[in-house]
Amino acid sequence: MRADLPILLAAALGALLGWPRLPNAAGSDAPATGFSADRAMGRIRVWSPEPRPTGSEAHEAVVDSLDHDLTSLGFDVQRQTPGALTNLVASSPGAGPEGVWLVAHSDSVAAAPGAADDGLGLGVVLEAARALSVERPPGRLHVLITDGEERGLRGATAFVHDAPAADRLAINIDARGTEGPAYMFQMAGSTPELLSAWRASGCAAQATSLAQTVYDLLPNDTDFTVFRGAGWRGYNFALIGGAWRYHTADDTIANLAPRSVQQIGDCVLGLARAWLDRAPGLPAAPSERAYAQVAGLTIGAPPWLVTLLGLAPLGLLRWRTAPRSCATFAAVALLTVLAGALISRGAQVFWPGFSTAIAEVPNPGPLYAAVLLLGLAGCAFLRRFSPDGMAAPTILLTAAVAGLAPAVGYILVPGAWVAGLRGRRTWWPAVVPALLAGLLLGPFYAAICPALTTRMLPVLAVVPLVTLGGLFSRSAEKGTSAGS
Ligand SMILES: [Zn+2]
Repeated sequence: MRADLPILLAAALGALLGWPRLPNAAGSDAPATGFSADRAMGRIRVWSPEPRPTGSEAHEAVVDSLDHDLTSLGFDVQRQTPGALTNLVASSPGAGPEGVWLVAHSDSVAAAPGAADDGLGLGVVLEAARALSVERPPGRLHVLITDGEERGLRGATAFVHDAPAADRLAINIDARGTEGPAYMFQMAGSTPELLSAWRASGCAAQATSLAQTVYDLLPNDTDFTVFRGAGWRGYNFALIGGAWRYHTADDTIANLAPRSVQQIGDCVLGLARAWLDRAPGLPAAPSERAYAQVAGLTIGAPPWLVTLLGLAPLGLLRWRTAPRSCATFAAVALLTVLAGALISRGAQVFWPGFSTAIAEVPNPGPLYAAVLLLGLAGCAFLRRFSPDGMAAPTILLTAAVAGLAPAVGYILVPGAWVAGLRGRRTWWPAVVPALLAGLLLGPFYAAICPALTTRMLPVLAVVPLVTLGGLFSRSAEKGTSAGS
């Protein structure tokens, strides 16, 4: 019992340190070589007074405006017109080796002014290109503004078809929301190489191999899907906070958060600079790696190490009580999902259209809180009535996931160590993995609500059961821990 407080405090401290932070938005008087959210948003404001679907007059005006802006920065701008689309392909002057491609899409859906989707991308690309045109790094910078993204990635597909070249490096910016931390949720190419440029860029956006693995399983697409398929390397950025405004009339400049724009902008400029300053080398061999943000640092680990660290707590497992503990866990998890589904049903009664198509419930915070509390109640129940709290299921689950999918399983590993260590007579070493668990889980919890969307509430209910078991475990030795 005495172990509870220090372990919880360590985990809470970790979560606090690891919680995503946003920079202040730089004003229009920021240095010319830096990224200014104010300058970027000045352009986005001009482009997003009304929706600009492909083929509309509003869309044509935005393409003309971008053409003009890029030309006046000294770029050589070409128009590509596959079908009824208009892609803009702009290249900085010079004849150096091909450097970096900054990519965003100019069209919006018919229902949305598209300040974030993808005015954000347009503004970030233009402001980063402006800063680099002042700085003039050695490599060549290219800007690709695609059309018809919202109609099935058509502009990007046509571009890749007309100008096939593997191994280009693209930085794509899109949006599924209008606020919150910036996410780099997908990479293509050799992870160690991409992460080394990432670290050099000083980018503080959230990036984990967990998000990438999950996103790869989802049917969602951006232009980046096309580039990845064509063998390009690169990074894919998005905002996901405020997801209920996605593809609605509320995707306006007033709802686009300046500090989020600043964070993505700093990253895109830093990454482009890091790659443009590099001597062109041979691409490294593809290699998968588990990586995560830990308090602003991006830590990478080889998969075998994650697997090893995930399997080791099996040595601390109390096998005698494990079957009973796991059976109780399974029953509670099932009940929690069912209760989560009930909350979800209830929400459908109150919000018509809740479960249909793309529409999201506005301000779904209370729903998320209710479902997460449900999961926590399940944890508390297991802590009290299961033979070792949640130790056995936590350790076994971690071993399975870290063994099968280390890119995802890393997030469970510290919790399994807490579960294993706190059952021992000297429990205090468990404080160290508890701190690490907080550091990894803080940003995970910050991301999971917008990432899962309101339609996946029942899934959200088991998230505490699966991730917080280390904090809700206890010693199985009755008599030694009781009453202390
Ligand atoms: Zn988009």
